[in-house]
Amino acid sequence: MSASREAVPRLGVEVPFLDLVQQHDALAEALIDALRSALRSGAFVGGLELTEFEREFATFLGARSCVGVSSGTDALRFAYLALGIRPGDEVISVPNTFIATTEALTQAGGAIRFVDVDDTTLTMDPSAVEAAIGSRTVGMVPVHLYGQPADMDPLLAIGRRHGLWVVEDAAQAHGALYKGHAAGTMGALGAFSFYPGKNLGACGEAGAVVGADPGVLEIVRRLRDHGQARKYVHDVEGYNGRLDAIQAAFLRIKLRHLSEWNESRRRVAVAYRQALADVPEVRLPAEAPYARHVYHLYVIRAERRDALQSHLSARGIHTGLHYPLPLHLQKAYESLGLRRGSFPVAEQAADSILSLPMFPELTGDQVCHVAETIRDFYSG
Ligand SMILES: *Cc1c(COP(=O)(O)O)cnc(C)c1O
Repeated sequence: MSASREAVPRLGVEVPFLDLVQQHDALAEALIDALRSALRSGAFVGGLELTEFEREFATFLGARSCVGVSSGTDALRFAYLALGIRPGDEVISVPNTFIATTEALTQAGGAIRFVDVDDTTLTMDPSAVEAAIGSRTVGMVPVHLYGQPADMDPLLAIGRRHGLWVVEDAAQAHGALYKGHAAGTMGALGAFSFYPGKNLGACGEAGAVVGADPGVLEIVRRLRDHGQARKYVHDVEGYNGRLDAIQAAFLRIKLRHLSEWNESRRRVAVAYRQALADVPEVRLPAEAPYARHVYHLYVIRAERRDALQSHLSARGIHTGLHYPLPLHLQKAYESLGLRRGSFPVAEQAADSILSLPMFPELTGDQVCHVAETIRDFYSG
């Protein structure tokens, strides 16, 4: 052993932001068996793995039904289209989300109407919604950001009062609860992503739409498969937006662990809360009284955020920004004519948010190390 090798510092120096390797190592046998059985059966599109996953995921959520699709973005796209969006229809959304929420909407012909978010949860502020409703408004799409549901009761009540549908962007909230109801099951439709890093992730791209109205879900089913109800019979055009069978088989295996993984994420959140309680420069994420948060991300708001992020990065602690620039300030949405100052809560959040390492296998020692390094930064 060289001296320099021995001089390498203390415990857990590298803390990854996300570690899928541990999860996949633990499930490797089952995943490889599923792959082998798909190769033997030759069923790669549709088939039993898909329908069983759809049934099991619906059961997990307490949803009436589920339609597997090729990504969370397609889940949103098919949801908007199935609810009958037409060119020029306006949909209310939030600026602090991943662009897929609104991209799918614009591409489906809709127009975005942003509203600001609640300062505590950073989810759609119900008190801002009513003022944004115009003659062309047809719906709203609250985002259950970071794993915490938006305040659904007032949003659903506003929707009912004005005849608007609600699509839930539940891409970050598999298994999160709002007053006991699963995120994704309260609006007309819920859209999920199984992108690998999500709380439930495929080993590739996948998504799902859940809902209760069989007619609307049948439209989603056709949209994902070129508009066909039967092979080569097309009443409308659709998309190539199916969930492939191997991913469905992987998702079935992982779904069995989702509750336990969400519990572990909640334990990590408790550990962060304890370890960072005495750092006044850091504002910790709050679990709303109505919510069971599943901590897809653990997002603090920090003074001197950029300097803190560099300090952590220099010490091997990997963090992220979700999201650094609100959508209304992106070049892609220049044409909406919005400026800095349009949505102060979302804008202030964007300047101070920092996503700390968060995944089910993160250890107590790693959490303490992250907290200690943050404390060093502010006391140094
Ligand atoms: C991940 C994500 C999406 C898109 O899902 P994909 O499967 O990557 O297409 C949509 N909305 C939010 C909030 C997301 O986090």
